[in-house]
Amino acid sequence: MKCHRCGGTMVFEKFYGVCDEFFGWRCIFCGEIVDQVILENRLEHHR
Ligand SMILES: [Zn+2]
Repeated sequence: MKCHRCGGTMVFEKFYGVCDEFFGWRCIFCGEIVDQVILENRLEHHR
């Protein structure tokens, strides 16, 4: 998994949201966070 902003390495992490927790990818270089919802939105955008 590469960061779409800087091309850096992304790590799979657990995040804590407002009312529940979720898993997503975080870029260790620029801090970009991509979660499942964002990924799905992006995939739909490509269609
Ligand atoms: Zn990045």
